[in-house]
Amino acid sequence: MSFLLHGIGVSGGIAIGRAQLVSHATLEVAHYDITPEQVESEIARFDAAVKEVTRELDVLWAQIQETETSSEVGAFIDVHAMLLRDEMLSKAPRDIIATELCNAEWALVQQMHRLVEQFEQIDDPYLRERQNDVVQVVERVLTVLLGKPGVVLVQHPEQRTILVAHDLSPADMIRYKKHQFAAFLTDLGGATSHTAIVAKSLNIPAVVALHNARGLIREGEWLVVDGARNVVIVNPDKPVLAEYRLKQEEFELERQKLRRLKTKKATTLDGQSVELYANIELPTDLRDVLDSGASGVGLFRSEFLFLNRQGLPGEDEQFEAYRSVAQGLAGRPLVIRTFDLGADKHMEGISAGLDRVAMNPALGLRAVRFSLSEPRLFITQLRAILRASNFGKVKILIPMLCNIHELAQAMHLIERAKESLRVERKRFDEDIEVGGMIEIPAAVLSIGAFAERLDFLSIGTNDLIQYTLAIDRADDAVAHLYDPLHPAVLRLLGMAIRGATKAGKPIAVCGEMAGEVAFTRILLGLGLREFSMHPNHLLEVKQRVLTSDVPPLEVLATKMLRTDDPAKIASYVQRLQAA
Ligand code: PEP
Ligand code: MG
Repeated sequence: MSFLLHGIGVSGGIAIGRAQLVSHATLEVAHYDITPEQVESEIARFDAAVKEVTRELDVLWAQIQETETSSEVGAFIDVHAMLLRDEMLSKAPRDIIATELCNAEWALVQQMHRLVEQFEQIDDPYLRERQNDVVQVVERVLTVLLGKPGVVLVQHPEQRTILVAHDLSPADMIRYKKHQFAAFLTDLGGATSHTAIVAKSLNIPAVVALHNARGLIREGEWLVVDGARNVVIVNPDKPVLAEYRLKQEEFELERQKLRRLKTKKATTLDGQSVELYANIELPTDLRDVLDSGASGVGLFRSEFLFLNRQGLPGEDEQFEAYRSVAQGLAGRPLVIRTFDLGADKHMEGISAGLDRVAMNPALGLRAVRFSLSEPRLFITQLRAILRASNFGKVKILIPMLCNIHELAQAMHLIERAKESLRVERKRFDEDIEVGGMIEIPAAVLSIGAFAERLDFLSIGTNDLIQYTLAIDRADDAVAHLYDPLHPAVLRLLGMAIRGATKAGKPIAVCGEMAGEVAFTRILLGLGLREFSMHPNHLLEVKQRVLTSDVPPLEVLATKMLRTDDPAKIASYVQRLQAA
């Protein structure tokens, strides 16, 4: 039976393929069949993962001996290492792979469930608690397995696979970068959740906030995902399928046509220059940036270097990552946002204080707040960024500023990082520009103070909307309230752009709004001349810039800011598109 599901499309395009369900357990892993010939290599993959985790635990153990970390942590590592050596974890999953002909991740999670059940029966509370250690050690092995997918993951490359999950974290999504799924569907999440943002960078259609897709769709069913129209068609009939195949071709053709704009300068009809920058999560995204013809990188979400790993990336490792991008950009600007960890982006392992469960993580210790609470971590990153500034036009961007005291503290730590490099005679750009993200309403309402103290500003509309409308951007239950055209949001945008312009400081938008053509003319009308977005959207936005005449847009946008009436705003938006 064919039916339709509605959600929120986070990246356009059309995908046609078969559903692959992700396990419903807390540990979300895919389940797929393997052939008897593949058993040996699948077991080898499992063994290698166990071996790697054993090595990781040894390294962690050694690190702990060197620091003053409490011996409790060492005891946990001991327990994990012991569990991993036990046959119940190191051997039983191999038997499951061989008898059930399934992938290693699935076999491991099945065994984990069995063990957790057994632990549940134990009377002794201490021993019963050890079930958490089983889960944690299994998670470690899964992390390795997912990062090193077996050759069997895409079983039928010609039959494209659509991943259907209840929920995926941004860290999960990054792991899937290495796979070749045709599309992603999730029950949870909102349009600007970080999971959705990473899904965009995979350059494939994705629909989130489907509420119950995971429960309604069955393994192997045919699906059509229409990211632009926010729908998923389950079991499409032949005529629908044929129509969508045609649409898919048209979409591809349009994409190809846009390629011609790659080297064209983004200038409006009335001759104003607009800069279009790219957002990236990892150094490997550089290829897409260069491919899109972007003016540089306007937002490097550096915290993604901290995810999916045990332990922290050290200064040299970070430096290499930043340097490679700076050099790859050959003189074009690279704006590195200092790590925005917290909320939905968590580090694994034991190294930082972020494993504390906050009551309200989006309002908690996140971004610059976390950086200031861990000055050593922050200075390590700042030193790495500063050293990379010797290899290109690198700028520092501080996320989630709320008051000027935070800014003063951050500036102080930047100065300390500089001083330590001077002492060591390490080269860096003494005049490195420092910018701030404007993504809390309080920062917009005191924009003058920030504009005065910073070299440039960048509006994070994803968070600005979340905090203005009081909706958790990762919560599908309130995703329908996400509204970039809310009069309050538009006014805050207008106020921030005016405030920065008045102070003579450049201001960009680097939230998802910057990459949506539906908003390009509104933002131009509000005075914006710098946009930073996912590289896949850049040419479409450029096309819109090239066909826009700014003076009439400014008149309409000014009028739009005067009304509170959503119907009138909608009519202005229409007129802006037609202007
Ligand atoms: C934003 O908030 O708009 C932004 C660009 O930062 P992030 O999405 O990473 O929070
Ligand atoms: Mg943000």
